[in-house]
Parts: sequence; structure tokens; C-alpha cells
Amino acid sequence: MVQHLAHLLSILCLSLLAGCVERPLFDDLKAGDELVVLTRNSPTTYYFDNDRETGFDYELIKAFADAAGYKVRIKVAFTLEELIHSLAAGEAHIAAAGLTATPERLERFHASKPYLTQRPLVVYKSGLSRPRTATDLIDRDIIVLAGSSHSEALAGIARDLPKLRWREIRAADTLELMQLVAEEKADLAIVDSVEFRMQQRLYPRLVAGMELDDEAGMVWYLPKLPGAEALTDRVNDFFDTFKESGALKALQDQHFGHTRGASRIGSLTFQQKIHSDLPKWQSLIETVAKDYRLDWRLLAAVAYQESHWNPRARSPTGVRGLMMITRATAQDLGVDNRLDPEQSLRGGARFLKDLVRRLPDDIAEPDRTWMALAAYNIGMGHLEDARILTERAGLDPHRWQDVRSQLPALQDPDVYPGTRFGFARGREAMTYVDNIRHYYAALRLRELPNNRIQPPIDMGELLSSEHTRVLPRAL
Ligand code: GLU
Repeated sequence: MVQHLAHLLSILCLSLLAGCVERPLFDDLKAGDELVVLTRNSPTTYYFDNDRETGFDYELIKAFADAAGYKVRIKVAFTLEELIHSLAAGEAHIAAAGLTATPERLERFHASKPYLTQRPLVVYKSGLSRPRTATDLIDRDIIVLAGSSHSEALAGIARDLPKLRWREIRAADTLELMQLVAEEKADLAIVDSVEFRMQQRLYPRLVAGMELDDEAGMVWYLPKLPGAEALTDRVNDFFDTFKESGALKALQDQHFGHTRGASRIGSLTFQQKIHSDLPKWQSLIETVAKDYRLDWRLLAAVAYQESHWNPRARSPTGVRGLMMITRATAQDLGVDNRLDPEQSLRGGARFLKDLVRRLPDDIAEPDRTWMALAAYNIGMGHLEDARILTERAGLDPHRWQDVRSQLPALQDPDVYPGTRFGFARGREAMTYVDNIRHYYAALRLRELPNNRIQPPIDMGELLSSEHTRVLPRAL
């Protein structure tokens, strides 16, 4: 009843009473109740992939809410300051937004255990002077997000280096900072490492010069209100279970795994080819992908990995065309001209779809797609060997990250003689899948600036987007 009233009141607040603050109730939050979550729109926290909500913090919140039976309502803050302000005012149960544990915040809020660690990096544009030590930061135009952990850290450093100056940018996403440095409208930006690696594919000219501070944990914050402590305990119990089951590692891999090993030069060439070559192929790739019910960006990523979108590509082993199909596979697939871009794409798409289908039913997406890609590269038999080695190592043959870790063993002379299909270039297959994930993520991220939620006209106001449904996971 009380909650009912509160709900009515909150509707009134939203619709009628300007300035009336909506306060979710902490006491006795039960299954079926609404969990109000503050977040910020960024590739590491919460964003729309096409029209699906996703993001690491968002998926983690969903998992927590699903386990407890809560419905999730997301409120998006357009600056970090708004987010902190709104949380302090008790306008949400939890802030889940890639927020660093800092001494000041720990004073003000309850905090969960860390669920991720990141290093704060000093980012600059390659070719310009690289900062290596704290004194190199003096007399440079440094930007940070206003209200961020990094502005707190700079204030700490400035106690020893009183000449240190920086500008605070009112935004919620470090993408804005990266853009300013890329356009040379600022010299240096302070950005967390995981965010940086995700966004570097959009700005491959930006590099990290040094670490501003030690690695720090990301935590969820809760306001210091009655009942919030019990909810914090529930979050911590959930984190313990989620971590122990391996699900946290899997979620991290799903969201950030594709940043592994991505080379900056590779990203640079890829970004250039997106502009110079992709427009020639995009509509054909889209048509073929649609026919095979594949995400066109995945097919485009495979084609790029295979041929760099060169329809006449040729390898020393005789594979050819956009999708680098072997003569034997071409025959199986009914491809009579491997150099014909459409035939090649169709053949490759069919081959990939077929591999996805042939994998055991109990391998879930997205691991299923990554394993199919590995099989595309080394063949199903060798992938099967890697899965057997995974099981023997006490790991999970249904998880890509576990199978991935065993692929190099296929070329280890102490191991491969004992496998059914013998030697395979496992390390190459591992890189192959890593690269495709990287290109695929870059193609998806490219759409992000359009997909990001636009700030409200009145930037002073905190607006919320209200969603309460369960959404499918992003690949
Ligand atoms: N983790 C930062 C914070 O807690 C936000 C992201 C960033 O500025 O890189 O303030």
C-alpha cells in the first residue's frame, strides 16, 4: 500500500509537480518491485545496439534484478555530476555506471564490492609529445569528465604539483574526451583503461602515454538511506555467486573480450577501409546476411579478416576471394566462381551458418558464434579436439574463453599427438576469432554515436528513460 502510494506520488512528481523529487523505497524491496538504477550512456555501461538495450553494467544489473525478481527502471544521467547528485538525493536505488571506488565517494555512499578493475590512463594523440611522468602533465591542456574519479585524482596530485591545471567537461561518456583530443582541441584526456580500449577503435590515433594512478575497482553505489545497507549486502552476495559461477568472467569477455590483442595499426587500417572500401560492399553484404539470418556486421567482419574486402584476394595455399574459400569447400557449397563477390559471400555465409548449426545444442550464443568462427578457420574436427582438451583441463567446453585458451595446445608437440585430428594452427585460429570480434565490435560501435541517447534540451535537468522489460543479450 505504502509502495502503491509512493508509486502514485512518483507519477505525480513526473507529470505535475516540477521540482518534486521521486524517492524509491528501500525498505523491504521485494520480488516484483521496481529497482531504480542510475547509469550513464557509454559503450561500457549502457547503450542501444540497434534498438536493444545493452552494456556491461546494464547486463549485470539485469542479472542481479532477474535473480532477485526485481523489475529494472533505468534512469540515464547526462553528466557524472548529475548522476552523483541524483544518487545523493535518493532518486535511485543503485548507481551502476562504471564508477570508480574513490575515498570521497566511499564517504558519501554505500558501495558494493568491485566487479571490474580499470587503470586510469593519460591519453594523447600519437605524433604529439608523450606524457611519461606526473611533471609532464604541467602546462598541458588536460581534460577529464567533471565530477569523475579522475578529477578527484588530479586534485590529489595537484597538492604536490600546484602548477597542474585541467579542464572539466560536463558529459557522461569519455567518448567526448577522446573526440576533443583527436581533434586537437585538448592535449591530454584521462580515461579508464577498459573504456579507452573500447573506444580506441573509433579513435585509433589516440594512445595511452602513462597511468595516472594505480588500478582501481569499479563499484555500484547506493545512497546512505535506511534499508540501503541491506540492499548492498544483497548485491555483494549476488556478486560472490556470479563470480564463483564464472558468469562474471563470461560477461566481461562478452563485452570487453574483443579488445584483446587488437593492434592500433590494424584498427587504423580498418577505420580507413571502412570509409574507402566498405561502401562498395555494404549493401551486398547486407542482402546476403539477411538471407542467411546473420548480422551483416559480423559477415562484414569475417570478410574483412579473410580478404580485407578484396574480392581478388589470394593466399599461398590457394584460397581465394572475399571470403577466402578453398577449392574443395567451393565445390561442396556449389560456388563455381570464387572470385565473384556475391558467390563468395553466399558461400562463406552458408558455410558459417552450417558450422553454427552443427555445434552441440548446449553451446549458447555468443560463444556459439565464436566457436563456429574458430571452426571456419581450422575446421570442426580441430575445434572438437580443443573442446576435449578444455574439458580435460577442468575448464568449460561450452565457454569460448575456455576453449580459446586451449587452442594453442593444438600446435604443442607434447599435446597434439594425443588428439584425434592432430596438429592444427590453434594460435592462428585464436587470433582469427579475436580479430573478427574486434572488427565486429568496431562496426557496431561506429553506429553508437547515432544510437546514444540524446541529452535533454535543458541540460540542467536529469531525465530518465524508463524501461522495465527483459531484453535479449547483445552478441
Ligand atoms: N570511472 C570514472 C569515474 O568513476 C568514469 C569514467 C571515466 O572518466 O573514465 O568517475
